Amino acid sequence: MITLQRHRLARVLIDLHSHSTHSDGTLPPCEVARRMARAGVAVGALTDHDTMAGVAEFRREASLHGVKALSGVELSCAFPALEGPRQRDWEQRQEEAARQGRPAPLEPVGPVEVHLLAYGIDPGEAELESFMAGIRAMRRERVAGMARRLRELSLPLSLDSLSQRMESGTVGRPHLARLMVAAGQVESVNAAFLLYLAEGRAAWLPKALPDLKQALELVHRLGGVAIVAHPGKGLPLGAALHLLDAGVDGLEARHPSHRAALVDDLQGLCRRNRLSASAGSDFHDPLQGRYTAPAWTREDVGGRLQELL
Ligand SMILES: [Zn+2]
Ligand SMILES: [Zn+2]
Repeated sequence: MITLQRHRLARVLIDLHSHSTHSDGTLPPCEVARRMARAGVAVGALTDHDTMAGVAEFRREASLHGVKALSGVELSCAFPALEGPRQRDWEQRQEEAARQGRPAPLEPVGPVEVHLLAYGIDPGEAELESFMAGIRAMRRERVAGMARRLRELSLPLSLDSLSQRMESGTVGRPHLARLMVAAGQVESVNAAFLLYLAEGRAAWLPKALPDLKQALELVHRLGGVAIVAHPGKGLPLGAALHLLDAGVDGLEARHPSHRAALVDDLQGLCRRNRLSASAGSDFHDPLQGRYTAPAWTREDVGGRLQELL
């Protein structure tokens, strides 16, 4: 009897956020699907950054294991409405640091980046594909621009080994940092960031991201559901309220970076506003930690997203 109950409970587990080799994950989509199945996930989604290239493979493998696969993607967006709150947060941290005699934190200068998880739109949908291609082209140009800046600083790098990543647009600062280490220009990836690549440093360039409202409008027009990924990670205080105001369909309440109290707060906020509270492992790489299914069931979700599950 107990086994039966456990089994039933396990069958409604969901994981709506994961990554594969098509973005910055290290496992192919089929392997991500297998891990979800082994962990008892009943509904799963692969949500690579700005590409749906892995969704078909993920779906195929998931269905072999009795896992329902939702098509998904994690879109990188800018949300200017959070620039004021971020500035106030920074001023507060600056005052705190001064009081405690610690070094002042760096002033944030780039756009506030919000990750929007879009569900229920089929891969190959032309408008979404061209929207994502725009973001990937931006990544490619940004990395090329940062490499140019490094060359001007007498730190030349060959991007030959990144040609495949450059082509697919799944390239970013960590790749440049690793090349700098390999070329003996810096001692570590950390040092590369600290000295050259971190926000505001000599070789850094801001990301030119599409506006969150534009992404939302597109997802809604195509009949999809838009959920804010990890609203508690790297965003200023009170960000969730601004995001709900913008018209998102819900928030990712359970995420490895969210403490238990925050998970409850976010779920409560979604419930009160009749929106969806989602959950994701944000799984990238078994070397960073074994795959673990989020403790979240279909019934915890609510709102429009639950209708898709
Ligand atoms: Zn993210
Ligand atoms: Zn993610």
